[in-house]
Amino acid sequence: MSNFEARYKQVKQRVMEAAARGGRDPSAIIIVAVSKTASPEQISEAFQFGVRDFGENRAQQLSIRQEMFPEAHWHLIGRLQTNKAKEVIDRACLIHSLDRWQLAEYIEKRAAGFDIKVSALLQVNVSGEASKGGVAVSETEEFLDSLHSFKHLEILGLMTMAPEVENPESVRPVFKELKRLYDILQGKNYANVDMRYLSMGMTQDFEVAIEEGANIVRIGRALFPREENETGGIA
Ligand SMILES: *Cc1c(COP(=O)(O)O)cnc(C)c1O
Repeated sequence: MSNFEARYKQVKQRVMEAAARGGRDPSAIIIVAVSKTASPEQISEAFQFGVRDFGENRAQQLSIRQEMFPEAHWHLIGRLQTNKAKEVIDRACLIHSLDRWQLAEYIEKRAAGFDIKVSALLQVNVSGEASKGGVAVSETEEFLDSLHSFKHLEILGLMTMAPEVENPESVRPVFKELKRLYDILQGKNYANVDMRYLSMGMTQDFEVAIEEGANIVRIGRALFPREENETGGIA
C-alpha cells in the first residue's frame, strides 16, 4: 500500500467516525484533497488511487493543474484576486472563496462573456478575525438577495475558515454558527441560490466540522505531509 493510500484510508476512517458521532450519512461528505503543497507526482498518485476532488488556493496553480489533470474536479479554495478570476472561472468546479461583492460582479460579467455558469460558495467570516476574508454573518442575507438579477453565477452554499487553534473543540462554536446560518438561508427562496454545500473543516478540525454538519471538508496536510514534497526537507 502506498503512503498516500494509507493516509487516505485513515482520513476516510476518521470522516466515517465523525459522521457516526454526528448522526450523519458519511457518503454525503465530500473530501477535497488540498494539493497546494503537493507535487504533480503526489497528485498523480492520488488520482490513480481514485481521488477526484482537489483543492488549490492559487488561481494560477489551479489553472496549470487542471490542464494536467482535466478529469479531476478542481476546487478554488483561497482568496481570489479579481484580476485572476478569469483564469479559473471556466476551470474550477466550485469557487469556495466568494468573499466580496466586487468579485461576484466581476465573475458574473466574465462568465457572461464565456457564456458559462459559475458555481461558488459564499465565504462567511464567522469568527470576525480581521485577517480572514468573507462576508459578515449579518450581511449574508443582503448579499444573497442582491444576486437576483445575475444569470451566470450561482451560489451553492457557504464556506468558512476557522481560526488556527491548538484544540479543535475551541472552534466548534464557529461551525455551529455557520450551520445555523445555512439552515436559515436554506429556508429562504433566493434566486440563483441553492444551499446544498457547507464547506468547513481542515486537517486541524475536520472531525468537529463534520459533527456540526459540514458536507465538504478541505484536507491538505493529513493527505500530503510537507516532508514528502519534491523540494525535500520540512519547510
Ligand atoms: C490550505 C487550506 C486548507 C487545508 O489546510 P490543511 O491544514 O493543510 O488541511 C483548507 N482550506 C483552505 C482555504 C486552505 O488554504
